[in-house]
Amino acid sequence: MAKKSNRPKIHLTCQVCKRRNYVTRRNTVNTTEKLELKRFCATCKVHTLHKETKLPNPKPR
Ligand SMILES: [Zn+2]
Repeated sequence: MAKKSNRPKIHLTCQVCKRRNYVTRRNTVNTTEKLELKRFCATCKVHTLHKETKLPNPKPR
């Protein structure tokens, strides 16, 4: 039986234009601090620092 698990989805937000470019999941057990990644931003057209932001409305399933 599958037990109820909480998989927190997070956005990776470009710190330059504040657009949420990526949706990913963070392993809350192994990574307790906030994610900060260099990712390509299609709006800025360069690699920028993307920080973790929570989804505005988590849909209940
Ligand atoms: Zn950007």
